[in-house]
Amino acid sequence: MPHDTPATPPPSRAGGEFDVIVVGAGITGAGVARDAALRGLRVCLLDQHDLGAGTTWGSSGMIHGGLRYIEYDWETTRVSCLDGGYIKRIAPHLLFPVVFLLPVYPGDHFGIEKKETGLEVYDRFQPFKAGRPHVRLSAEEALQLEPGLRPDLIGAVTMDEWGVDAARLVALNALGAREAGAEVRTYTEVIDVVRDGGAVRGVRVRSRLSGAVETIAAKVVCNAAGPWSPRLAEMAGATLQLRPAKGVHLIYDRRITNCALGVEAIDGRDLLLVPHANQTILGTTDDDFYGDPSQLEVTEDEVEYILQAFERVFPSIRQYRIAHANAAVRPTLYGWRRYEDDLSREYEVFDHGALDGVPGLVSIAGGKMSMFRKMAEDTVDVLLRVLGRPFVPTSTHTTPLPGGESVVDTVEVAGNFGLPLPVAQRLVARHGARVESLLGDAEPEERRALLCECEPVTRAELRHVVRNESVERLDDLYRRVRCTGGACLGMRCAWPAARLLGEEKGWNARRVADEVHDFLDARWLQRPSVVRGATAAQEQLYRGAMYALGEVGDAAPTAESRVAAPEALTAGD
Ligand SMILES: Cc1cc2nc3c(=O)[nH]c(=O)nc-3n(C[C@H](O)[C@H](O)[C@H](O)COP(=O)(O)OP(=O)(O)OC[C@H]3O[C@@H](n4cnc5c(N)ncnc54)[C@H](O)[C@@H]3O)c2cc1C
Repeated sequence: MPHDTPATPPPSRAGGEFDVIVVGAGITGAGVARDAALRGLRVCLLDQHDLGAGTTWGSSGMIHGGLRYIEYDWETTRVSCLDGGYIKRIAPHLLFPVVFLLPVYPGDHFGIEKKETGLEVYDRFQPFKAGRPHVRLSAEEALQLEPGLRPDLIGAVTMDEWGVDAARLVALNALGAREAGAEVRTYTEVIDVVRDGGAVRGVRVRSRLSGAVETIAAKVVCNAAGPWSPRLAEMAGATLQLRPAKGVHLIYDRRITNCALGVEAIDGRDLLLVPHANQTILGTTDDDFYGDPSQLEVTEDEVEYILQAFERVFPSIRQYRIAHANAAVRPTLYGWRRYEDDLSREYEVFDHGALDGVPGLVSIAGGKMSMFRKMAEDTVDVLLRVLGRPFVPTSTHTTPLPGGESVVDTVEVAGNFGLPLPVAQRLVARHGARVESLLGDAEPEERRALLCECEPVTRAELRHVVRNESVERLDDLYRRVRCTGGACLGMRCAWPAARLLGEEKGWNARRVADEVHDFLDARWLQRPSVVRGATAAQEQLYRGAMYALGEVGDAAPTAESRVAAPEALTAGD
């Protein structure tokens, strides 16, 4: 059923300009927008793409202190652990425990004693983020936990961390900002910064959906554009220098280990394998990057570098199917004469009025997702000063993110709404305390109707996020609820998801088909470095079939043909 008006219209702009336009809805900008709105500022949050689709989407999805930073970047470990504790407090549903095994082999850079000493120091930080102290394991114990490890290990140590759905963390910050009065606009690219006698007065934007160009006025512009932030500063006549570094991950279509693993690459760098929701993430590289962050490619060398490191420790790794590879660029602060890996992950807030004579422009750069809340707090402190407003302390460490208001009993949700347990688990993990209203408001026949079987996602959830969470394109549904992100890589759910999106947006059949074709093309671009030979040929055949299904239309499976059967879904989650 098409809807003429969205359920939550953007707040009125009657009353003139915004106090602050935040450019960039990655985790940094979304965090700043929420904090600023909660402190009473009139905020507009803009992104050229979807929420969290930049570097944040390409992160390893960890809220972690960073054991390796202890050596040379102590403050980053301390702040990340402290902030990780606050993030856990405001979004308890979103974080999940990740237990690492750090196996030690003959010839490793750090022997077991040295590794354990590092962990003993890290244990001091663990209470900040409700983490448990490490445990030292014998080779037998480690192999019992992780039978796929190469058997000649000396021993292992454990390390507790938190995993997070990074895109969901951004979406909840953006939603929280909107609930506090902010306007959130995706697919809105800043093409120029408007100045008046040197001072920044707003931005000129172009909609990537309609092509419309307009000016949005604000007293201050906050540049939170991640690796694109030097370009945005340049638009305003200011300077911002970063030392960007590219990082690559391999994403597997299933969990392949019991624990997360930390291993050593050929050059001694630490790489991670993380079981993450229904996937496994392997990464990451860390290389100086000089190109356009919008044009990233994954090379076969990068894939080989990662596989080589894991094969040494987990010999069967090449037998598993890589769903796709992704790349992202770290917006690291500038530094000379250090290896990429050794660069500080600290952050800095730049007031370009004081630095470059460009009043009204503030940039936030560097940092990590794990400390996004503190980064936002420090940025909004500067924004208040630049705006000449009285100081108001932040409340983001105590105000729950949407859904974090209370802890929900998943079994109860499953029972109350007749849902299979894995469906209820996924819903609660994404929507927390708001799951009851999401389901209560849904059409009864859509509550259990599975649209994406791999994840699993129901039609009710999909309709809810399309109506309430700034979803514009099919690919946005992967970031919002993981639809199209499962083992089928969207082959089974792309068409029905596009149809549902089309119903909500009032699209015609041609528009729906274009959306699926765009989606398939974009997905294919993430595959060449990880599929070869017969697999590549087979995939091209599938893609052809998907295009053909579009012509036939009704041949694609419908929701009615796949109503969730609780007993069929309880296994394997
Ligand atoms: C491979 C890798 C793994 C990582 N893993 C972790 C991890 O596990 N844990 C952790 O804490 N940190 C991790 N990090 C670091 C973390 O991901 C980044 O610090 C963080 O995501 C940066 O967020 P951001 O919002 O600053 O940038 P981004 O997420 O890139 O957001 C910037 C946004 O600005 C938008 N934008 C740019 N130009 C314009 C314009 N002209 N108009 C409108 N919008 C614009 C972009 O579209 C983008 O969405 C990792 C980084 C990498 C590269």
